[in-house]
Amino acid sequence: MSRRAESSGLGTLRTNVVGAAFVLMLAGGLLLVLQYVSLRREAIADATAQAHVVATSSAAAVMFGDGDAAHEVLQSLGTLASIRGARIADADGGVVAAYAHDGNAPGCRLDCPLVRAPILLHGQQVGSVIVWMDMGRVHHRLLGLAGAFLVASLAAFTLSLPLMRRMRARVRAAEARLQHLAHYDPVSGQQNRNAFNACLAWTPPRPAGERHALMQLDLDRFKEVNDSLGHSGGDELLWQVGTRIAAVAGTQDQLFRLGGDEFAVLMKVTDAADARARAETVLGQFQAPFLVGGQQLFVTASAGVSIWPDDGEQFHELAGNADAAMYAAKREGRRRVALYEPRLREAQAEKLMLQVELRRALDGCQFQLHYQPQVDAVGRLLGAEALLRWFHPELGAIAPSRFIPVAEDCGLIVDIGRWVIGEACRQAAAWRAEGHDAPRLAVNLSVRQTRDEDLPAFIDGILAATALPASCLELEITESVLLEDADRAIAQLARLRARGLHLAIDDFGTGYSSMAYLKRLPIDKLKIDMTFVQAIPGDGEAITTAILAMAHHLQLTVVAEGVETEHQHRFLRQAGCDQLQGYRIGRALPADAFAARWLVPAQDPA
Ligand code: C2E
Ligand code: MG
Ligand code: MG
Repeated sequence: MSRRAESSGLGTLRTNVVGAAFVLMLAGGLLLVLQYVSLRREAIADATAQAHVVATSSAAAVMFGDGDAAHEVLQSLGTLASIRGARIADADGGVVAAYAHDGNAPGCRLDCPLVRAPILLHGQQVGSVIVWMDMGRVHHRLLGLAGAFLVASLAAFTLSLPLMRRMRARVRAAEARLQHLAHYDPVSGQQNRNAFNACLAWTPPRPAGERHALMQLDLDRFKEVNDSLGHSGGDELLWQVGTRIAAVAGTQDQLFRLGGDEFAVLMKVTDAADARARAETVLGQFQAPFLVGGQQLFVTASAGVSIWPDDGEQFHELAGNADAAMYAAKREGRRRVALYEPRLREAQAEKLMLQVELRRALDGCQFQLHYQPQVDAVGRLLGAEALLRWFHPELGAIAPSRFIPVAEDCGLIVDIGRWVIGEACRQAAAWRAEGHDAPRLAVNLSVRQTRDEDLPAFIDGILAATALPASCLELEITESVLLEDADRAIAQLARLRARGLHLAIDDFGTGYSSMAYLKRLPIDKLKIDMTFVQAIPGDGEAITTAILAMAHHLQLTVVAEGVETEHQHRFLRQAGCDQLQGYRIGRALPADAFAARWLVPAQDPA
């Protein structure tokens, strides 16, 4: 807790104590005033009664002008301590007798009020009695009360001191806890976004050569952990991630959890190479699996790094730049570090723009499917790959390589992918209805879609609605589906294949090709990536030959993608490639053009 917060807390407590004392004193003062008024009233009533007694007893003495008798009556007041003196006067005001307690005639003073009583005889006033009161007793009683009040107050204060001390300690502890909660994230145990914002709001003075790097790090596919293990599993993982990063952070480095699965590390570095090395050390912490809920989880992360003052004069500029770099790392295939470059900002702005436009595109019918033929060695049409095309009313045609990664990133690919499957099935059904021998249509499935638990049911619905046999649909997936939860992916693929759908591995050879997994995968087809095909003549020849041998051994059909030249075409045919796809055979065409060029009416069996 900061000293400022602590002293302000104590200050409040002190103010409260002083306030309480003030209120107590005020109440005490008020009580004394009320007590004084009441005692005074009582004393006056007493004196008035005495004056009346004297008046009654001295009526005869006044009538006969007997001063001695009057004086005797007055002497009877001598036993009353509340009376300072008295005087008996006749009807003309002449003094008949006077008495003074201390020998001096009393005057009228504030502390010495007087009361009068008429001396009546047969209803006629024959004189008056004046009694001067002595307020000494009232004052004594008041003083006694004030003293008792003061002693009681002092005793209360003395007793309340340890109580106050304990309360103060409790307030301090509560304040410390609040302060902690305001700046720490309870899930990961690290500093939170508030602390991060506060840190970036301040830019340190700039000694020559000093550099700080901000590393922003995002767990790849954290949502799936949350979905499969529940939020408590997700929280447990975040705690472990925080602990692992903290283990490699330097003593001067600051670690934050920014929310969700995003972490940030602010560190002192010497240069860009040092920043990259430090960031890679942090990512290295993800190599070992995490143990969550008794399960081993292989979690990867992508990181973006920006450096102060190279990438921004002010600290707060670092956050946006590190974020842009992090998205670049994700785009480049995740589980890597990317350093900020100014062009990344533009890429991020474009990404945001495309996200907005993609949402509109789906509702605004801006998508179309084009079909690229797949033929056998002698050129007969066997199938077609449905390739998505986006025609934006203002931006024109936008390439899939530009928008598919954006759609994958924001999750829209699930809806877009469903539209593609639906559209391909409708088109295949339409061609069949027109009497064509419709080719098997292959659609690309992004990794995100393979994790969609509802996908099999969705496909069932489409096939039922279009009355298309499942064998007319092929799904192309990439090896990256196996990267995380391979068992789950394999189970999902098996569910799809059990319906009679064909499954193909796309871009084979570019991913993390593993023979062991390939054997377990329920697939029918393997598509050799076009980079190998285009390396023919050259290295590509040996690679494609090896892939063909291996795939045929596993009884898989092989398609070569991106066949552009006559030489490639010939080589692949001779090497035993089952199917060919590429510009050499035909480009992707809109449905009508494809039908006109490639489809022939189905042969009448009769
Ligand atoms: P892909 O599935 O590997 O598709 C083949 C890509 O290679 C297509 O590019 C196709 O037009 C191109 N291609 C075909 N023959 C040749 C050739 O001879 N030479 C060259 N240089 N290129 C050739 P396209 O249509 O731009 O698609 C690019 C990628 O976008 C696809 O790669 C696929 O990964 C993705 N994609 C396309 N449509 C969809 C879709 O509906 N859903 C998903 N998830 N991804 C899609
Ligand atoms: Mg494909
Ligand atoms: Mg491909």
